[in-house]
Amino acid sequence: MTHTFDAVIVGAGGAGLMAALQATRGQSPAGTVPKVAVLSKLYPTRSHTGTAQGGIGAALGNSEEDRWEWHMFDTVKGGDYLGDQDAIEIMCREAVDTVYELEHMGLPFSRTPDGKIAQRPFGGHTREFGKAAVRRACYAADRTGHMILQTLYQQCIKQGVTFFDEFHVVDLLLDGGAVRGVAAVEIATGDLHTFAAKAVLFATGGCGRMFKITSNALTLTGDGMGVVYRRGIPLQDMEFFQFHPTGIYKMGILITEGARGEGGILRNNSGERFMERYAPNLKDLAPRDMVSRAMHTEIRQGRGIGGKDYLHLDLTHLDPQVIHDKLPDITDFVETYLGIDPVKAPIPVQPTAHYAMGGIPTNADGEVVIDERRTPLPGLYAAGECACVSVHGGNRLGTNSLVDIIVFGRRSGKALGEYVKRSAPAGLPADPEGQTRERLKRLREGRGPERVSSIREALQAEMTDKASVFRTAGELQKMLEVLTGLKARYEKAALQDRGSRFNMELLEAFELGCLLDLAQVTVTCALNRQESRGAHCREDFPKRDDANWFKHTLAWKRGDRVEIGYKPVVVTRFQPQERKY
Ligand SMILES: Cc1cc2nc3c(=O)[nH]c(=O)nc-3n(C[C@H](O)[C@H](O)[C@H](O)COP(=O)(O)OP(=O)(O)OC[C@H]3O[C@@H](n4cnc5c(N)ncnc54)[C@H](O)[C@@H]3O)c2cc1C
Repeated sequence: MTHTFDAVIVGAGGAGLMAALQATRGQSPAGTVPKVAVLSKLYPTRSHTGTAQGGIGAALGNSEEDRWEWHMFDTVKGGDYLGDQDAIEIMCREAVDTVYELEHMGLPFSRTPDGKIAQRPFGGHTREFGKAAVRRACYAADRTGHMILQTLYQQCIKQGVTFFDEFHVVDLLLDGGAVRGVAAVEIATGDLHTFAAKAVLFATGGCGRMFKITSNALTLTGDGMGVVYRRGIPLQDMEFFQFHPTGIYKMGILITEGARGEGGILRNNSGERFMERYAPNLKDLAPRDMVSRAMHTEIRQGRGIGGKDYLHLDLTHLDPQVIHDKLPDITDFVETYLGIDPVKAPIPVQPTAHYAMGGIPTNADGEVVIDERRTPLPGLYAAGECACVSVHGGNRLGTNSLVDIIVFGRRSGKALGEYVKRSAPAGLPADPEGQTRERLKRLREGRGPERVSSIREALQAEMTDKASVFRTAGELQKMLEVLTGLKARYEKAALQDRGSRFNMELLEAFELGCLLDLAQVTVTCALNRQESRGAHCREDFPKRDDANWFKHTLAWKRGDRVEIGYKPVVVTRFQPQERKY
Protein backbone atom coordinates (compact mmCIF):
# COMPACT_ATOMS: atom_id res chain seq x y z
CA MET A 1 0.00 0.00 0.00
CA THR A 2 1.44 3.39 -0.97
CA HIS A 3 0.63 6.73 0.69
CA THR A 4 1.86 10.09 -0.58
CA PHE A 5 2.71 13.03 1.66
CA ASP A 6 4.89 16.11 1.40
CA ALA A 7 6.79 15.02 4.48
CA VAL A 8 6.88 12.13 6.94
CA ILE A 9 7.89 12.53 10.58
CA VAL A 10 8.95 9.30 12.25
CA GLY A 11 8.30 9.47 15.99
CA ALA A 12 5.66 11.19 18.12
CA GLY A 13 7.67 12.10 21.22
CA GLY A 14 8.35 15.73 22.10
CA ALA A 15 10.68 16.26 19.14
CA GLY A 16 8.38 14.69 16.54
CA LEU A 17 5.23 16.46 17.79
CA MET A 18 6.92 19.87 18.00
CA ALA A 19 8.29 19.39 14.48
CA ALA A 20 4.85 18.36 13.22
CA LEU A 21 3.26 21.46 14.72
CA GLN A 22 5.79 23.73 13.06
CA ALA A 23 5.82 21.95 9.71
CA THR A 24 2.05 22.12 9.36
CA ARG A 25 1.98 25.78 10.27
CA GLY A 26 3.84 26.89 7.11
CA GLN A 27 1.75 27.96 4.13
CA SER A 28 2.85 26.86 0.65
CA PRO A 29 2.85 29.44 -2.22
CA ALA A 30 -0.53 28.09 -3.33
CA GLY A 31 -1.84 28.80 0.15
CA THR A 32 -2.17 25.17 1.15
CA VAL A 33 -0.65 23.63 4.26
CA PRO A 34 2.05 20.99 3.62
CA LYS A 35 0.72 17.44 3.95
CA VAL A 36 2.63 15.92 6.83
CA ALA A 37 2.20 12.45 8.33
CA VAL A 38 3.49 11.44 11.76
CA LEU A 39 4.29 7.72 12.04
CA SER A 40 4.81 6.22 15.47
CA LYS A 41 5.31 2.66 16.62
CA LEU A 42 3.69 3.69 19.91
CA TYR A 43 0.47 5.51 20.52
CA PRO A 44 1.91 9.09 20.64
CA THR A 45 1.29 9.82 24.31
CA ARG A 46 3.13 6.63 25.29
CA SER A 47 6.42 8.03 23.93
CA HIS A 48 9.33 8.18 26.36
CA THR A 49 9.15 11.97 26.59
CA GLY A 50 6.12 11.35 28.81
CA THR A 51 8.32 9.77 31.48
CA ALA A 52 10.63 12.79 31.88
CA GLN A 53 10.32 13.87 35.45
CA GLY A 54 12.65 16.60 36.57
CA GLY A 55 12.30 19.60 34.33
CA ILE A 56 13.18 21.69 31.31
CA GLY A 57 16.05 24.17 31.66
CA ALA A 58 15.60 27.78 30.60
CA ALA A 59 17.14 30.96 32.01
CA LEU A 60 13.81 32.64 32.82
CA GLY A 61 15.23 34.08 36.05
CA ASN A 62 11.92 33.66 37.88
CA SER A 63 13.35 32.74 41.29
CA GLU A 64 16.73 34.48 41.08
CA GLU A 65 18.85 36.22 38.45
CA ASP A 66 19.76 34.00 35.51
CA ARG A 67 21.06 34.55 31.97
CA TRP A 68 21.14 32.40 28.85
CA GLU A 69 24.92 33.04 28.64
CA TRP A 70 25.32 31.24 32.01
CA HIS A 71 23.16 28.39 30.72
CA MET A 72 25.37 28.25 27.63
CA PHE A 73 28.56 28.16 29.69
CA ASP A 74 27.19 25.39 31.91
CA THR A 75 26.18 23.33 28.87
CA VAL A 76 29.59 23.73 27.21
CA LYS A 77 31.46 22.88 30.42
CA GLY A 78 29.02 20.11 31.40
CA GLY A 79 29.63 18.49 27.99
CA ASP A 80 33.40 18.59 28.65
CA TYR A 81 33.84 21.10 25.80
CA LEU A 82 32.84 18.67 23.04
CA GLY A 83 29.53 20.41 22.20
CA ASP A 84 29.31 22.77 19.22
CA GLN A 85 29.01 26.22 20.73
CA ASP A 86 27.09 27.81 17.84
CA ALA A 87 24.29 25.25 18.37
CA ILE A 88 24.48 25.52 22.16
CA GLU A 89 24.04 29.28 21.94
CA ILE A 90 20.93 28.84 19.80
CA MET A 91 19.52 26.28 22.25
CA CYS A 92 20.07 28.36 25.40
CA ARG A 93 18.76 31.59 23.82
CA GLU A 94 15.67 29.98 22.31
CA ALA A 95 14.94 27.87 25.42
CA VAL A 96 13.38 30.94 27.06
CA ASP A 97 10.95 31.60 24.20
CA THR A 98 10.00 27.97 23.71
CA VAL A 99 9.17 27.48 27.39
CA TYR A 100 6.83 30.48 27.20
CA GLU A 101 5.38 29.05 24.00
CA LEU A 102 4.61 25.82 25.89
CA GLU A 103 3.07 27.84 28.71
CA HIS A 104 0.85 29.67 26.22
CA MET A 105 -0.24 26.34 24.74
CA GLY A 106 -1.58 25.56 28.21
CA LEU A 107 1.16 23.48 29.84
CA PRO A 108 0.37 23.37 33.58
CA PHE A 109 3.77 24.26 35.06
CA SER A 110 4.26 24.34 38.84
CA ARG A 111 4.14 27.97 40.02
CA THR A 112 5.96 30.34 42.37
CA PRO A 113 3.78 31.99 45.06
CA ASP A 114 3.42 35.03 42.77
CA GLY A 115 2.24 32.90 39.84
CA LYS A 116 5.35 32.63 37.69
CA ILE A 117 6.73 29.33 36.33
CA ALA A 118 8.54 27.67 39.27
CA GLN A 119 12.21 26.73 38.86
CA ARG A 120 14.51 24.41 40.84
CA PRO A 121 18.24 23.62 40.88
CA PHE A 122 19.62 20.75 38.79
CA GLY A 123 23.04 19.17 38.27
CA GLY A 124 25.66 21.46 36.72
CA HIS A 125 23.37 24.50 36.43
CA THR A 126 25.12 27.54 37.91
CA ARG A 127 25.10 31.30 38.01
CA GLU A 128 27.96 33.60 37.00
CA PHE A 129 29.90 30.93 35.13
CA GLY A 130 30.17 28.33 37.86
CA LYS A 131 29.95 30.33 41.11
CA ALA A 132 26.99 28.56 42.74
CA ALA A 133 23.91 26.50 41.90
CA VAL A 134 21.03 28.36 40.24
CA ARG A 135 17.30 27.57 39.93
CA ARG A 136 16.85 27.02 36.19
CA ALA A 137 14.75 23.84 35.78
CA CYS A 138 11.11 24.71 35.00
CA TYR A 139 8.89 21.86 36.12
CA ALA A 140 5.39 20.49 36.48
CA ALA A 141 5.91 18.54 39.75
CA ASP A 142 7.86 15.43 38.64
CA ARG A 143 5.68 14.97 35.56
CA THR A 144 7.23 17.59 33.30
CA GLY A 145 7.60 15.36 30.24
CA HIS A 146 4.09 13.98 30.64
CA MET A 147 2.71 17.51 30.55
CA ILE A 148 4.84 18.47 27.54
CA LEU A 149 3.73 15.42 25.59
CA GLN A 150 0.03 15.85 26.40
CA THR A 151 0.14 19.56 25.58
CA LEU A 152 1.87 19.05 22.23
CA TYR A 153 -0.39 16.15 21.28
CA GLN A 154 -3.50 18.23 21.97
CA GLN A 155 -2.11 21.03 19.80
CA CYS A 156 -1.37 18.58 16.97
CA ILE A 157 -4.93 17.23 17.13
CA LYS A 158 -6.27 20.79 17.12
CA GLN A 159 -4.17 21.57 14.06
CA GLY A 160 -5.30 18.45 12.21
CA VAL A 161 -1.94 16.67 11.97
CA THR A 162 -2.33 13.23 10.33
CA PHE A 163 -1.19 10.38 12.58
CA PHE A 164 -0.40 6.78 11.70
CA ASP A 165 -0.31 5.23 15.17
CA GLU A 166 1.37 1.87 15.69
CA PHE A 167 3.20 1.97 12.38
CA HIS A 168 6.73 0.65 12.80
CA VAL A 169 9.19 2.24 10.36
CA VAL A 170 11.77 -0.23 9.12
CA ASP A 171 13.54 1.54 6.25
CA LEU A 172 14.42 4.90 4.74
CA LEU A 173 13.89 5.07 0.99
CA LEU A 174 16.65 6.82 -0.92
CA ASP A 175 17.24 7.05 -4.64
CA GLY A 176 20.57 8.27 -5.96
CA GLY A 177 21.25 9.88 -2.57
CA ALA A 178 17.87 11.70 -2.51
CA VAL A 179 15.09 11.12 0.02
CA ARG A 180 11.98 9.38 -1.31
CA GLY A 181 10.13 8.27 1.84
CA VAL A 182 9.98 5.38 4.31
CA ALA A 183 8.73 1.80 4.58
CA ALA A 184 6.69 0.82 7.63
CA VAL A 185 4.92 -2.21 9.06
CA GLU A 186 1.36 -1.68 10.28
CA ILE A 187 1.53 -3.46 13.61
CA ALA A 188 -2.13 -4.52 13.72
CA THR A 189 -2.08 -6.29 10.35
CA GLY A 190 1.58 -6.95 9.55
CA ASP A 191 1.10 -5.18 6.19
CA LEU A 192 4.05 -3.37 4.69
CA HIS A 193 3.27 0.25 3.69
CA THR A 194 5.27 2.67 1.56
CA PHE A 195 5.14 6.36 2.40
CA ALA A 196 6.35 8.49 -0.51
CA ALA A 197 7.58 11.89 0.69
CA LYS A 198 9.82 14.76 -0.35
CA ALA A 199 11.29 14.94 3.13
CA VAL A 200 11.65 12.64 6.15
CA LEU A 201 12.37 13.65 9.72
CA PHE A 202 13.55 11.07 12.26
CA ALA A 203 12.59 11.72 15.88
CA THR A 204 12.79 8.16 17.14
CA GLY A 205 14.43 8.78 20.53
CA GLY A 206 17.25 6.89 22.27
CA CYS A 207 18.83 3.44 22.34
CA GLY A 208 19.33 2.73 26.07
CA ARG A 209 17.97 -0.78 25.66
CA MET A 210 21.40 -1.94 24.54
CA PHE A 211 22.16 -2.02 28.30
CA LYS A 212 20.67 -4.20 31.03
CA ILE A 213 20.39 -1.59 33.78
CA THR A 214 18.67 1.32 32.07
CA SER A 215 16.08 4.00 32.71
CA ASN A 216 14.89 3.69 29.12
CA ALA A 217 11.52 2.24 28.11
CA LEU A 218 11.38 -1.13 26.32
CA THR A 219 10.90 0.56 22.96
CA LEU A 220 14.07 2.67 23.03
CA THR A 221 15.96 0.52 20.59
CA GLY A 222 17.54 3.16 18.36
CA ASP A 223 15.51 2.30 15.24
CA GLY A 224 16.00 5.66 13.51
CA MET A 225 19.74 5.64 14.12
CA GLY A 226 19.93 2.01 12.95
CA VAL A 227 17.94 2.63 9.77
CA VAL A 228 19.96 5.64 8.58
CA TYR A 229 23.27 3.97 9.54
CA ARG A 230 22.40 1.02 7.30
CA ARG A 231 21.65 3.47 4.51
CA GLY A 232 25.23 4.78 4.56
CA ILE A 233 24.73 7.83 6.77
CA PRO A 234 27.28 8.22 9.57
CA LEU A 235 26.50 8.38 13.30
CA GLN A 236 28.29 10.91 15.49
CA ASP A 237 29.90 10.65 18.96
CA MET A 238 28.30 7.32 19.78
CA GLU A 239 30.96 6.51 22.41
CA PHE A 240 29.32 9.07 24.69
CA PHE A 241 26.50 7.38 26.60
CA GLN A 242 25.23 8.89 29.82
CA PHE A 243 24.76 6.91 33.03
CA HIS A 244 22.35 8.63 35.37
CA PRO A 245 23.40 8.35 39.03
CA THR A 246 20.07 7.43 40.54
CA GLY A 247 18.43 4.36 39.07
CA ILE A 248 16.46 2.13 41.45
CA TYR A 249 18.83 -0.69 42.45
CA LYS A 250 18.72 -3.68 40.07
CA MET A 251 15.82 -2.21 38.07
CA GLY A 252 17.35 0.94 36.62
CA ILE A 253 14.02 2.82 36.91
CA LEU A 254 14.83 6.51 37.21
CA ILE A 255 14.65 8.65 40.32
CA THR A 256 14.83 12.18 38.95
CA GLU A 257 17.80 14.43 39.64
CA GLY A 258 15.05 16.78 40.85
CA ALA A 259 15.17 14.73 44.07
CA ARG A 260 18.69 16.07 44.65
CA GLY A 261 17.56 19.45 43.29
CA GLU A 262 15.06 19.54 46.17
CA GLY A 263 17.84 18.72 48.67
CA GLY A 264 18.30 14.93 48.48
CA ILE A 265 21.75 13.60 49.43
CA LEU A 266 23.76 10.56 48.30
CA ARG A 267 25.28 8.54 51.16
CA ASN A 268 27.62 5.56 51.38
CA ASN A 269 27.69 2.65 53.81
CA SER A 270 28.89 4.79 56.71
CA GLY A 271 26.26 7.44 56.03
CA GLU A 272 28.88 9.83 54.64
CA ARG A 273 27.84 12.48 52.09
CA PHE A 274 30.66 11.32 49.80
CA MET A 275 30.07 13.88 47.00
CA GLU A 276 31.68 16.49 49.27
CA ARG A 277 35.01 14.79 48.53
CA TYR A 278 34.52 14.63 44.74
CA ALA A 279 32.85 18.00 43.99
CA PRO A 280 33.32 20.30 47.01
CA ASN A 281 31.36 23.14 45.43
CA LEU A 282 28.31 21.55 43.77
CA LYS A 283 28.40 18.27 45.76
CA ASP A 284 25.37 16.10 44.90
CA LEU A 285 24.47 18.49 42.09
CA ALA A 286 27.69 17.98 40.11
CA PRO A 287 27.11 16.80 36.50
CA ARG A 288 25.94 13.22 36.06
CA ASP A 289 29.14 11.76 34.63
CA MET A 290 31.05 12.87 37.73
CA VAL A 291 28.46 11.64 40.22
CA SER A 292 28.18 8.25 38.49
CA ARG A 293 31.95 7.81 38.55
CA ALA A 294 32.09 8.81 42.21
CA MET A 295 29.40 6.24 43.00
CA HIS A 296 31.23 3.47 41.15
CA THR A 297 34.43 4.41 42.97
CA GLU A 298 32.69 4.26 46.37
CA ILE A 299 31.25 0.84 45.50
CA ARG A 300 34.59 -0.50 44.21
CA GLN A 301 36.35 0.67 47.34
CA GLY A 302 33.90 -1.29 49.47
CA ARG A 303 31.75 1.60 50.67
CA GLY A 304 28.54 0.44 48.96
CA ILE A 305 25.64 -0.26 51.32
CA GLY A 306 26.44 -3.49 53.17
CA GLY A 307 29.43 -3.88 50.81
CA LYS A 308 27.03 -4.35 47.88
CA ASP A 309 26.90 -2.49 44.54
CA TYR A 310 24.46 0.28 45.52
CA LEU A 311 24.28 3.49 47.58
CA HIS A 312 21.57 5.46 49.31
CA LEU A 313 19.64 8.46 48.07
CA ASP A 314 18.47 10.08 51.27
CA LEU A 315 15.39 12.34 51.31
CA THR A 316 14.44 11.68 54.93
CA HIS A 317 15.64 15.10 56.14
CA LEU A 318 13.32 16.94 53.71
CA ASP A 319 9.96 18.39 54.66
CA PRO A 320 7.44 15.58 53.84
CA GLN A 321 5.24 18.20 52.21
CA VAL A 322 8.00 19.00 49.69
CA ILE A 323 8.31 15.31 48.83
CA HIS A 324 4.57 14.92 48.38
CA ASP A 325 4.05 18.13 46.41
CA LYS A 326 7.14 18.20 44.23
CA LEU A 327 8.10 14.53 43.86
CA PRO A 328 4.79 12.64 43.93
CA ASP A 329 5.54 10.22 41.09
CA ILE A 330 8.91 9.09 42.36
CA THR A 331 7.40 8.57 45.82
CA ASP A 332 4.88 6.35 44.13
CA PHE A 333 7.55 4.37 42.20
CA VAL A 334 9.62 3.80 45.31
CA GLU A 335 6.57 2.62 47.25
CA THR A 336 5.43 0.38 44.40
CA TYR A 337 8.75 -1.20 43.44
CA LEU A 338 10.59 -1.25 46.75
CA GLY A 339 7.90 -0.94 49.38
CA ILE A 340 9.81 2.03 50.83
CA ASP A 341 8.39 5.37 51.97
CA PRO A 342 11.07 7.91 50.95
CA VAL A 343 9.93 10.21 53.76
CA LYS A 344 11.08 7.61 56.28
CA ALA A 345 13.84 5.53 54.62
CA PRO A 346 16.66 6.11 52.10
CA ILE A 347 16.31 4.75 48.54
CA PRO A 348 18.80 2.13 47.21
CA VAL A 349 20.24 3.47 43.94
CA GLN A 350 22.89 2.66 41.34
CA PRO A 351 23.89 4.37 38.05
CA THR A 352 21.59 3.50 35.15
CA ALA A 353 22.13 3.82 31.37
CA HIS A 354 20.11 6.87 30.47
CA TYR A 355 20.90 8.97 27.42
CA ALA A 356 22.68 8.81 24.07
CA MET A 357 24.67 11.99 23.54
CA GLY A 358 25.55 10.73 20.05
CA GLY A 359 23.23 10.09 17.14
CA ILE A 360 22.40 11.17 13.61
CA PRO A 361 24.53 14.27 12.86
CA THR A 362 22.54 17.40 12.06
CA ASN A 363 23.03 21.15 11.80
CA ALA A 364 21.00 23.62 13.87
CA ASP A 365 18.09 23.42 11.39
CA GLY A 366 17.82 19.68 11.85
CA GLU A 367 19.25 18.91 8.39
CA VAL A 368 21.18 15.64 8.50
CA VAL A 369 24.83 16.28 7.61
CA ILE A 370 26.68 13.35 6.17
CA ASP A 371 30.40 14.09 6.28
CA GLU A 372 33.30 15.94 7.90
CA ARG A 373 32.43 19.11 5.94
CA ARG A 374 28.84 19.07 7.25
CA THR A 375 27.24 18.56 3.83
CA PRO A 376 23.46 18.26 4.23
CA LEU A 377 21.51 15.43 2.58
CA PRO A 378 18.58 17.34 1.05
CA GLY A 379 15.22 16.38 2.51
CA LEU A 380 16.57 14.35 5.44
CA TYR A 381 16.08 15.72 8.96
CA ALA A 382 16.53 14.47 12.52
CA ALA A 383 15.68 15.91 15.93
CA GLY A 384 15.59 14.90 19.58
CA GLU A 385 17.54 12.15 21.26
CA CYS A 386 18.19 10.24 18.01
CA ALA A 387 19.97 13.32 16.62
CA CYS A 388 23.34 14.83 17.51
CA VAL A 389 23.38 18.58 16.84
CA SER A 390 25.75 18.49 18.97
CA VAL A 391 24.60 20.44 22.01
CA HIS A 392 25.39 17.92 24.75
CA GLY A 393 28.99 17.21 23.78
CA GLY A 394 30.43 14.44 25.95
CA ASN A 395 27.84 14.64 28.74
CA ARG A 396 24.30 16.09 28.81
CA LEU A 397 23.18 18.29 31.67
CA GLY A 398 19.90 17.39 33.33
CA THR A 399 16.88 19.24 31.80
CA ASN A 400 18.75 19.89 28.55
CA SER A 401 17.15 17.07 26.59
CA LEU A 402 13.67 18.51 26.95
CA VAL A 403 15.10 21.85 25.82
CA ASP A 404 16.83 20.12 22.90
CA ILE A 405 13.67 18.34 21.68
CA ILE A 406 11.57 21.47 21.91
CA VAL A 407 14.06 23.98 20.44
CA PHE A 408 15.41 21.74 17.69
CA GLY A 409 12.05 20.04 17.12
CA ARG A 410 10.69 23.50 16.39
CA ARG A 411 13.61 24.57 14.18
CA SER A 412 13.73 21.33 12.19
CA GLY A 413 9.95 21.29 11.70
CA LYS A 414 10.12 24.81 10.37
CA ALA A 415 13.03 23.99 8.01
CA LEU A 416 11.26 20.84 6.83
CA GLY A 417 8.04 22.78 6.15
CA GLU A 418 9.96 25.30 4.07
CA TYR A 419 11.89 22.61 2.22
CA VAL A 420 8.77 20.77 1.04
CA LYS A 421 7.25 24.02 -0.18
CA ARG A 422 10.15 24.74 -2.50
CA SER A 423 10.87 21.21 -3.74
CA ALA A 424 8.98 19.21 -6.35
CA PRO A 425 7.68 15.70 -5.66
CA ALA A 426 9.94 12.91 -6.90
CA GLY A 427 8.99 9.37 -7.88
CA LEU A 428 9.65 6.33 -5.76
CA PRO A 429 12.54 4.03 -6.63
CA ALA A 430 11.61 0.76 -8.35
CA ASP A 431 10.30 -1.81 -5.84
CA PRO A 432 10.80 0.62 -2.93
CA GLU A 433 10.31 -1.81 -0.09
CA GLY A 434 11.93 -4.84 -1.78
CA GLN A 435 14.92 -4.87 0.55
CA THR A 436 12.67 -4.58 3.61
CA ARG A 437 10.38 -7.34 2.43
CA GLU A 438 13.42 -9.59 2.05
CA ARG A 439 14.76 -8.73 5.51
CA LEU A 440 11.41 -9.33 7.21
CA LYS A 441 10.94 -12.55 5.28
CA ARG A 442 14.34 -13.79 6.42
CA LEU A 443 13.47 -12.95 10.01
CA ARG A 444 10.01 -14.48 9.80
CA GLU A 445 11.09 -17.66 8.06
CA GLY A 446 14.31 -18.28 9.98
CA ARG A 447 14.53 -21.89 11.15
CA GLY A 448 17.62 -21.72 13.37
CA PRO A 449 17.90 -22.65 17.04
CA GLU A 450 18.29 -19.12 18.43
CA ARG A 451 15.70 -16.94 20.19
CA VAL A 452 15.58 -13.16 19.83
CA SER A 453 14.95 -12.67 23.55
CA SER A 454 18.00 -14.65 24.69
CA ILE A 455 20.34 -12.83 22.25
CA ARG A 456 18.97 -9.52 23.51
CA GLU A 457 19.46 -10.45 27.15
CA ALA A 458 23.04 -11.50 26.46
CA LEU A 459 23.73 -8.22 24.63
CA GLN A 460 22.32 -6.13 27.48
CA ALA A 461 24.16 -7.98 30.25
CA GLU A 462 27.49 -7.86 28.40
CA MET A 463 27.17 -4.16 27.53
CA THR A 464 26.39 -3.25 31.15
CA ASP A 465 29.36 -5.35 32.23
CA LYS A 466 31.96 -4.24 29.67
CA ALA A 467 31.05 -0.84 28.21
CA SER A 468 29.50 1.27 30.95
CA VAL A 469 30.78 3.91 33.42
CA PHE A 470 34.44 2.79 33.42
CA ARG A 471 36.00 1.35 30.27
CA THR A 472 39.33 -0.26 29.32
CA ALA A 473 40.77 -1.41 25.98
CA GLY A 474 40.76 -5.02 27.21
CA GLU A 475 37.07 -5.08 28.13
CA LEU A 476 35.99 -3.17 25.02
CA GLN A 477 37.96 -5.55 22.82
CA LYS A 478 36.25 -8.47 24.54
CA MET A 479 32.89 -6.80 23.94
CA LEU A 480 33.60 -6.56 20.21
CA GLU A 481 34.27 -10.30 20.17
CA VAL A 482 31.03 -10.91 22.08
CA LEU A 483 29.21 -8.81 19.48
CA THR A 484 30.63 -10.84 16.60
CA GLY A 485 29.25 -13.95 18.31
CA LEU A 486 25.86 -12.37 18.99
CA LYS A 487 25.54 -11.18 15.41
CA ALA A 488 26.26 -14.70 14.17
CA ARG A 489 23.57 -16.04 16.52
CA TYR A 490 21.17 -13.35 15.30
CA GLU A 491 21.53 -14.69 11.76
CA LYS A 492 20.28 -18.05 13.06
CA ALA A 493 17.34 -16.70 15.03
CA ALA A 494 13.88 -18.18 14.53
CA LEU A 495 10.59 -16.66 15.61
CA GLN A 496 8.00 -18.56 17.57
CA ASP A 497 5.23 -16.32 16.27
CA ARG A 498 4.79 -16.88 12.54
CA GLY A 499 1.61 -14.82 12.23
CA SER A 500 1.03 -11.37 10.78
CA ARG A 501 -1.26 -9.61 13.22
CA PHE A 502 0.48 -7.88 16.15
CA ASN A 503 3.62 -9.92 15.58
CA MET A 504 5.67 -8.13 18.22
CA GLU A 505 8.35 -10.80 18.10
CA LEU A 506 9.08 -9.92 14.47
CA LEU A 507 9.39 -6.24 15.36
CA GLU A 508 11.55 -7.07 18.38
CA ALA A 509 13.82 -9.01 16.05
CA PHE A 510 14.10 -5.91 13.87
CA GLU A 511 14.82 -3.77 16.96
CA LEU A 512 17.49 -6.20 18.13
CA GLY A 513 19.20 -5.86 14.73
CA CYS A 514 19.39 -2.10 15.32
CA LEU A 515 20.69 -2.55 18.88
CA LEU A 516 23.42 -4.93 17.73
CA ASP A 517 24.60 -2.47 15.07
CA LEU A 518 24.51 0.47 17.48
CA ALA A 519 26.35 -1.46 20.20
CA GLN A 520 29.06 -2.27 17.67
CA VAL A 521 29.37 1.41 16.76
CA THR A 522 29.39 2.47 20.44
CA VAL A 523 32.08 -0.02 21.42
CA THR A 524 34.24 0.57 18.34
CA CYS A 525 34.18 4.33 18.91
CA ALA A 526 34.83 3.86 22.65
CA LEU A 527 37.86 1.69 21.90
CA ASN A 528 39.08 4.20 19.36
CA ARG A 529 38.88 7.29 21.61
CA GLN A 530 41.99 7.07 23.78
CA GLU A 531 41.13 9.68 26.36
CA SER A 532 38.56 10.34 29.09
CA ARG A 533 36.03 13.07 28.39
CA GLY A 534 32.51 13.54 29.76
CA ALA A 535 30.71 10.25 30.14
CA HIS A 536 33.41 8.35 28.22
CA CYS A 537 35.89 7.28 30.89
CA ARG A 538 38.86 5.15 29.86
CA GLU A 539 40.75 3.86 32.90
CA ASP A 540 43.75 3.24 30.66
CA PHE A 541 43.62 6.86 29.41
CA PRO A 542 42.30 8.73 32.47
CA LYS A 543 42.94 12.31 31.25
CA ARG A 544 41.17 14.48 28.73
CA ASP A 545 43.54 14.94 25.78
CA ASP A 546 42.65 18.09 23.85
CA ALA A 547 45.78 17.93 21.71
CA ASN A 548 44.67 14.67 20.08
CA TRP A 549 40.98 14.20 20.78
CA PHE A 550 39.30 17.59 20.67
CA LYS A 551 37.10 16.39 17.78
CA HIS A 552 33.82 14.63 17.05
CA THR A 553 33.78 11.01 15.94
CA LEU A 554 31.85 9.97 12.83
CA ALA A 555 31.16 6.28 12.22
CA TRP A 556 30.08 4.74 8.89
CA LYS A 557 28.90 1.23 8.18
CA ARG A 558 31.23 -0.53 5.76
CA GLY A 559 29.95 -4.07 5.37
CA ASP A 560 30.43 -5.68 8.78
CA ARG A 561 32.99 -3.11 9.82
CA VAL A 562 32.75 0.37 11.32
CA GLU A 563 34.81 3.07 9.59
CA ILE A 564 35.79 6.07 11.70
CA GLY A 565 36.33 9.70 10.70
CA TYR A 566 36.41 13.01 12.56
CA LYS A 567 34.83 16.44 12.52
CA PRO A 568 36.08 19.61 14.23
CA VAL A 569 34.31 21.00 17.30
CA VAL A 570 32.83 24.51 16.88
CA VAL A 571 34.20 26.92 19.52
CA THR A 572 32.80 30.45 19.71
CA ARG A 573 32.98 31.86 23.25
CA PHE A 574 34.51 29.37 25.65
CA GLN A 575 37.95 27.79 25.24
CA PRO A 576 38.36 24.37 26.89
CA GLN A 577 39.33 24.59 30.56
CA GLU A 578 39.86 22.16 33.37
CA ARG A 579 36.51 20.93 34.63
CA LYS A 580 36.10 21.45 38.39
CA TYR A 581 32.86 21.68 40.34
C1 LIG B 1 12.85 8.12 32.81
C2 LIG B 1 13.38 9.30 32.07
C3 LIG B 1 13.32 10.57 32.64
C4 LIG B 1 13.84 11.68 31.96
N1 LIG B 1 13.76 12.92 32.53
C5 LIG B 1 14.20 14.00 31.85
C6 LIG B 1 14.07 15.32 32.38
O1 LIG B 1 13.53 15.53 33.46
N2 LIG B 1 14.56 16.36 31.67
C7 LIG B 1 15.16 16.19 30.45
O2 LIG B 1 15.58 17.16 29.85
N3 LIG B 1 15.27 14.95 29.91
C8 LIG B 1 14.80 13.86 30.57
N4 LIG B 1 14.91 12.61 29.99
C9 LIG B 1 15.38 12.48 28.61
C10 LIG B 1 14.27 12.92 27.66
O3 LIG B 1 13.02 12.62 28.20
C11 LIG B 1 14.39 12.23 26.30
O4 LIG B 1 15.70 12.31 25.82
C12 LIG B 1 13.46 12.91 25.30
O5 LIG B 1 12.15 12.99 25.82
C13 LIG B 1 13.44 12.19 23.97
O6 LIG B 1 12.43 12.74 23.17
P1 LIG B 1 12.29 12.32 21.65
O7 LIG B 1 11.15 13.09 21.12
O8 LIG B 1 13.61 12.46 21.00
O9 LIG B 1 11.97 10.76 21.70
P2 LIG B 1 10.84 9.88 22.49
O10 LIG B 1 9.99 10.69 23.39
O11 LIG B 1 11.56 8.71 23.05
O12 LIG B 1 9.93 9.42 21.29
C14 LIG B 1 10.36 8.52 20.31
C15 LIG B 1 9.24 8.30 19.33
O13 LIG B 1 9.73 7.57 18.22
C16 LIG B 1 8.82 6.56 17.89
N5 LIG B 1 9.57 5.49 17.23
C17 LIG B 1 10.74 4.93 17.61
N6 LIG B 1 11.11 3.99 16.73
C18 LIG B 1 10.17 3.97 15.76
C19 LIG B 1 9.98 3.21 14.58
N7 LIG B 1 10.83 2.27 14.21
N8 LIG B 1 8.88 3.46 13.84
C20 LIG B 1 7.98 4.40 14.20
N9 LIG B 1 8.11 5.14 15.32
C21 LIG B 1 9.19 4.92 16.07
C22 LIG B 1 8.16 6.17 19.18
O14 LIG B 1 6.90 5.58 18.96
C23 LIG B 1 8.05 7.53 19.88
O15 LIG B 1 6.87 8.16 19.48
C24 LIG B 1 14.41 11.50 30.68
C25 LIG B 1 14.45 10.23 30.10
C26 LIG B 1 13.97 9.14 30.79
C27 LIG B 1 14.09 7.78 30.15
